Amino acid sequence: MTNSWERRYSRRAKANTGSAIRALLKLTEQPEFISLAGGLPAPESFPIAEIAAAADTVLHEHGAAVLQYSATEGYRPLRELVAQRVSTTTHQLTAENVLITSGSQQALDLLGKVFIDSGDKVIVESPTYLAALQAWNAYEAHYLAAPMDEAGLDPAQLAPLFAQDPKFLYCVPNFQNPTGVTMTLERRQQLVALGAAHQLPLIEDDPYGSLRFEEDALPSLLALADPDDLGVIQLSTISKTLAPGLRVGWIIGPPELISRVALAKQGTDLHTGSLDQAIVHHLIATGFVEHHLPSIVARYRERRDVMLAALNEHFPASTSWTHPTGGMFVWVTLPAEVDATELLSAAIEQGVAFVPGGPFHPDGSGRNTMRLNFSNASPERIATGIARLGNALREF
Ligand code: PMP
Repeated sequence: MTNSWERRYSRRAKANTGSAIRALLKLTEQPEFISLAGGLPAPESFPIAEIAAAADTVLHEHGAAVLQYSATEGYRPLRELVAQRVSTTTHQLTAENVLITSGSQQALDLLGKVFIDSGDKVIVESPTYLAALQAWNAYEAHYLAAPMDEAGLDPAQLAPLFAQDPKFLYCVPNFQNPTGVTMTLERRQQLVALGAAHQLPLIEDDPYGSLRFEEDALPSLLALADPDDLGVIQLSTISKTLAPGLRVGWIIGPPELISRVALAKQGTDLHTGSLDQAIVHHLIATGFVEHHLPSIVARYRERRDVMLAALNEHFPASTSWTHPTGGMFVWVTLPAEVDATELLSAAIEQGVAFVPGGPFHPDGSGRNTMRLNFSNASPERIATGIARLGNALREF
């Protein structure tokens, strides 16, 4: 059979060459190796005992219901809770605005399934979340790259992209993956106004918003949108505040879109695991998630500080990096002539890994950039890892 598989694969499957990050994660298996490559939360932050207790409670109280097939849109009490948490005096959302997904990664895939025909254009930040590109490559999307700087995506540069009739615009306004950058309030307002003027849906992906180390939260694009004509689809997840292994995320949007996405989800997995959804509902409803969050934030803030200090100490003056005020990533720009993929081989010899920034760019640029994760490794290992990387860079 070996030879005949290839000709049977779909065009989509053949185009999917896999994520550079997943291949790199294999390296982290050796204990002496320091990986700043993945996007993993700190395992010390997983509330294992509380999750076990919540599982016990929901199984005892609603055992049959959480073990049975259930609605594609999700566990209704959780949908109601999510709606209630994002509602404000101006924006009254209900369960009909919410669909629970198997992580927000599935939300990205389902939105691709619902919106993208082969060759359709979509606007993404450059750089953007790699696995969003991976999800939409399967639908044969054509990307229009929206330039970013330290203030986030720049709406002033969007006119030529809006003119090409894209299906939607995708962005990560808070502590973006990969850059750690946060879009300013002014740009959020401009973007929402532009989206409304062009009737272009904005997909606001917000997995990191609650991992905020400094200053007050900025209003979400959803909160800035016209409540009577919601042009913003917001995604979020429990992966960074509880545990990614639970695979619970959600889409918030107008009920008409939610019904469409539910039809798409039916063919994918019928519904997200009910036991996981009920556990997440229990831990949010009892206030545990809110109570637990400050300890995660304190841990990541310390690790961010250690990383920035180590970069200052060990990286040459010809490099620059972002100063994220939350989230899990720092983004480094190397001198133009340095290819980060080549640097990675030198870094691996020194026992440290990062993710080269090129693949995050839909337009093939950014070869001299890299993403560093500060949430997963201990402060000591972050400091050692950056020192090793500084050595690799100097030798390179
Ligand atoms: N969007 C962004 C921007 C992310 O960084 C991630 C996690 N790496 C996801 C979506 C997916 O998260 P999950 O499926 O675990 O909810």
